[in-house]
Amino acid sequence: TRAVDFSVFEDLESDVRVYCRKFPVVFHRAKGAELYAEDGRTFIDFFCGAGTLNYGHNNEFIKRRVTEYLAGDGLMHGLDMYTVAKRELLTTFADTVLRPKGLDYKAQFCGPTGTDAVEAALKLARKVTGRSGVFAFTGAYHGMSRGSLGVTGGLRARRAGGVSGRGVTFIPYEDGPQGPFDSVALIERLITDPSSGVEPPAAVIVEPMQMEGGMYPASADWLRRLREVTERHGVLLILDEIQAGCGRTGTFFCFERAGITPDVVTVSKAIGGYGLPLSLALFRRELDVWEPGEHTGTFRGNQLAFVAATAACELWRETRFRTDMVVATRRLERFGREVTAAHPGVAVRGLGMAMGIDLGAAGGAERAGRVQRYAFEHGVVVELCGRHDEVVKILPPLNIDIPRLDRGVGVLLDALRAG
Ligand code: PMP
Repeated sequence: TRAVDFSVFEDLESDVRVYCRKFPVVFHRAKGAELYAEDGRTFIDFFCGAGTLNYGHNNEFIKRRVTEYLAGDGLMHGLDMYTVAKRELLTTFADTVLRPKGLDYKAQFCGPTGTDAVEAALKLARKVTGRSGVFAFTGAYHGMSRGSLGVTGGLRARRAGGVSGRGVTFIPYEDGPQGPFDSVALIERLITDPSSGVEPPAAVIVEPMQMEGGMYPASADWLRRLREVTERHGVLLILDEIQAGCGRTGTFFCFERAGITPDVVTVSKAIGGYGLPLSLALFRRELDVWEPGEHTGTFRGNQLAFVAATAACELWRETRFRTDMVVATRRLERFGREVTAAHPGVAVRGLGMAMGIDLGAAGGAERAGRVQRYAFEHGVVVELCGRHDEVVKILPPLNIDIPRLDRGVGVLLDALRAG
């Protein structure tokens, strides 16, 4: 194995805040599930931009559409204009993703990034209800701008932004690291008990599976109960599907397994299909209360991202793609069982192509760090998540081919065995 050498970053670090501290190579190309570094090394990508590259790097089908659009001088920026690229995305998205599930949403293009969709969702909920408070969950991650950071659970992230908790009530997450907790009952208590000291909120915002928080899926039953309670009390339910959405957990939206209809859904990351920036807030039609000009922005809706997103929706509809995804999911589940059998004390959680190997009770963050370094040295890129970075997060492309998936999980098994 090669020693991890950070010297390659020294020139860069003096001029710019380089985010990466963990993968000391310079990547320059990528294809499917593989990343290629300048020094000739190849890595299997189990990180995928935190769920942005669900269809793999440089997916051939999407690439063709994007390059044809560029070659044909397709409109690249059309602020507040009707464009063909926008129409095609809205039609394809409705036909492929919404209508087959009986969902009927209006879309607000936010953007370019996920945080923007969360800001829009909170702003809309406040205007619709005339209330300002929000209920969020411990361990939640919703973004880095003021509003989205305000509903993000991590104290470290919040303090870095000087964001106070005013107006936000954090409820223990259903089945977080402290174990099961009936948060729906607590929410109803807080709303209905006038002595709770908490104003009824405009909205409850929740991830259907906490990803940054440590890969904790919310149960379908809990999501249904949360929907019932919020509906009963006129509180909007915002589902943050930014990382768990776009097929990552097996269905297009992660909330689909609960059969609920959230009031607002935030979508970003993989919706851009090709790693292109795009974010949107979907909301029930009757919530369309903004006057023209009340929510604007120059880069809301990147035309090239519309083209890629349309192609990605078509890919999602393809039988071949679905079959590949199901085969890969079965293989990943088998890996989960192998880990559980070989390493008592290690908790494995997952849904679809999203899996967390929780080392909290078996070595903690230090061991997770060792697993990550071992994986990198043996050609696999994984990230960590969880309250203390104690969970190894596995997010391969949804349609990763089995030999590469096998190789990647094989390295992780070796890493766990190595300690
Ligand atoms: N919500 C969730 C659930 C996320 O995982 C993220 C990003 N990790 C965000 C919101 C924020 O998105 P972005 O980083 O694109 O602003």
